[in-house]
Amino acid sequence: MKAYIWNADGTARLADRPMPEILEPRDAIVRVRLSTICTSDLHILHGAVPRAVPGTALGHEFVGEITALGEGVRSLSVGQRVAANCITFCGECWFCRRGYVNNCEKGGWELGCRIDGCQAEYVRVPFADMGITPIPDGVRDESALFLGDILASGYFGAELCALRPGDTAAVIGAGPVGLCAMQAARLFGAAKVVAIDIDESRLAVARREGLADLCLNPQKAEIESAVREASCGRGADGVIEAAGGDGTFEMAWKIARPNAVVALVAMYERDQVLPLPSMYGKNLIFKTGGVDAARSDELMRLLESGRLRTDFLITHRGPLDRIEEGYRVFGEKLDGCLKWAVTPYEGK
Ligand SMILES: [Zn+2]
Ligand SMILES: [Zn+2]
Repeated sequence: MKAYIWNADGTARLADRPMPEILEPRDAIVRVRLSTICTSDLHILHGAVPRAVPGTALGHEFVGEITALGEGVRSLSVGQRVAANCITFCGECWFCRRGYVNNCEKGGWELGCRIDGCQAEYVRVPFADMGITPIPDGVRDESALFLGDILASGYFGAELCALRPGDTAAVIGAGPVGLCAMQAARLFGAAKVVAIDIDESRLAVARREGLADLCLNPQKAEIESAVREASCGRGADGVIEAAGGDGTFEMAWKIARPNAVVALVAMYERDQVLPLPSMYGKNLIFKTGGVDAARSDELMRLLESGRLRTDFLITHRGPLDRIEEGYRVFGEKLDGCLKWAVTPYEGK
């Protein structure tokens, strides 16, 4: 089968790989129907993910069909259409029992990082009874695709903020995670959602899809005062930093009101400065992610009911054969690309 393999020098290529096999009782083998390219894949290629193992197939966000199951998996069946979780977790260790699945003693971010991922025709999923969610008939592949990574991360960010009804939530970065965080902030009761991005086309999506009440571009507006103005002079009640760009961490704590939660779900490629003297007395709470992607069941129900929707994130698609083009278009954000969906290999 074909798989997109990365090398230590930051290059990657579509190569032949043996079909994955069941290695452990809780494994599943899944035929990939639709996968994505994620910014985290780019971070791996940039050498910014120390845990990543060269020579593995990239990709950690996908939907597919189960083709084989280990003898220890009772909750799933062969032929089932499923969405996968980007985090591999056992469900039994100290961290898993407390919901901190990202720090599972036997897992964490494994797929497409330390073991072969889903930018391939088939993929082996360890602890499948934890990391795989059946897709109800009423939910399309395109809607379920983001369940275990992008949507989970946005939801996680909003959840960390502990928003209360009527709050103002600010989301830095109107990319896929940011757009999901905006929807989730509304679910958690935010009365006002502020979207912040330097990319006008992404702000336009937030506006068009009704995800934000106020869209701000730091190249055109003074963000700190604009957010304060939008929140009775206080600053945002919760800030979700989903951009990870130059200056966005500083912006995140500056636009937060005193005693707010600043949720950092972005993946930074560089160290950030925490200027404690400047923020003394603001009494902020910082929370960092690594998504604890343990909410797949409720997220699937929210997708099924239409309370969350993510299919509009797919702006581009192409078969596994054209994945290099996908990396270029997605990586350089060409042509308004939010997400490139990878369809099965065609061999043309
Ligand atoms: Zn990802
Ligand atoms: Zn665990």
